[in-house]
Amino acid sequence: MADCVFCRIVARQSSADITYEDDAVLAFKDIYPKAPEHHLIVPKRHIASLTDATPEDALVLGRCVVAARQLAEATGYAEKGFRLGVNTGPEGGQIVYHVHFHFTAGRRPRTDA
Ligand code: AMP
Ligand code: ZN
Repeated sequence: MADCVFCRIVARQSSADITYEDDAVLAFKDIYPKAPEHHLIVPKRHIASLTDATPEDALVLGRCVVAARQLAEATGYAEKGFRLGVNTGPEGGQIVYHVHFHFTAGRRPRTDA
């Protein structure tokens, strides 16, 4: 956990372009954006992966989802729509092992997933 890049961002030990914050959730811009709006929404508390999530994590994970609504309103995509995705595990494309929701908007959503 000490070497977790997203925990360092939460602790303000690494810089990030923070776009949303409350007591349990932080969002910041992805450094390699894949859409005109690409933010990562993370629980402040370290949860490595959805495969590690327990019922006790349900509230904070739900709050991450609700934070997407705030981002959608702040970026002007509440009406047009957005995509929320969680890459999980090696074959799910997860690189950073601190649960994060990719919020992407401004590009036509994929139709195959
Ligand atoms: P994933 O493949 O779902 O684990 O995605 C990890 C994402 O984190 C990628 O889209 C990276 O561009 C992004 N990322 C990695 N390090 C940082 C960082 N320090 N600040 C912002 N985004 C990051
Ligand atoms: Zn972490």
